[in-house]
Amino acid sequence: MEAGGERAAQARGHVTVIEDEASISDPLRSALEREGYAVSVEATGSGGLDSVRANEPDIVLLDLMLPDLDGRDVCRAIRQTSDVPIIMLTARGLETDRVVGRELGADDYLAKPFSMAELTARIRAVLRRTGKRAAPAARSDRSTAIQIGDVVIDPATHVVTHAGAPLDLPRREFDLLHILMAHAGTVLRRNALMDKVWGADWFGSTKTLDVHIAGLRRRLGDDAQEPRYIHTVRGVGFRFSSPAELAG
Ligand code: CA
Repeated sequence: MEAGGERAAQARGHVTVIEDEASISDPLRSALEREGYAVSVEATGSGGLDSVRANEPDIVLLDLMLPDLDGRDVCRAIRQTSDVPIIMLTARGLETDRVVGRELGADDYLAKPFSMAELTARIRAVLRRTGKRAAPAARSDRSTAIQIGDVVIDPATHVVTHAGAPLDLPRREFDLLHILMAHAGTVLRRNALMDKVWGADWFGSTKTLDVHIAGLRRRLGDDAQEPRYIHTVRGVGFRFSSPAELAG
């Protein structure tokens, strides 16, 4: 059920989870509440739509396969009245990412099975991107900088530092690094990176992506064979190291 009113008032934000599988929504609720979010769980699409209208959440996690409605229809219905950030929860293997991004108005997607660390990182990244304030501390601090290991990227000032030294990055490399770091620890598909950095309408050689990755690696002093920061996941895409990997 609902988090208490007092708790919700000081929460980092209100998350509405629309997911019919309790084996997913139960641990999700626990993890998100531990992170300080107020959480509403709805097991049907229609219940989810009612909850979004009633609670005006800061973010919606939306399962694609619901018992009453298709998650895509729920996404479209939410978009008719609200610009709340939506993360779609999809089954691995379904090519929903591009469909979701281009047609439905979702902000991100996550393939099952996912780890709670992945999910909470996505939630923070989406809230950061959409300008919803994720934490009370962030409210007074306008900075949206991301630090992972000794790399810091600040989209507000467009400054990247590596071990304290500023790096001069071309715009596309900056955008690419920002997306990779915002999803640190998670593999981003080549198509998704191309869409996000160059736009969904760009039809060039995907070699361009490799050239920019190589440029980033060179500036970061990274080694493609033994990467510290940017890992190639063959046949899939790229991954920036998680904070844990770069700790210590
Ligand atoms: Ca489901």
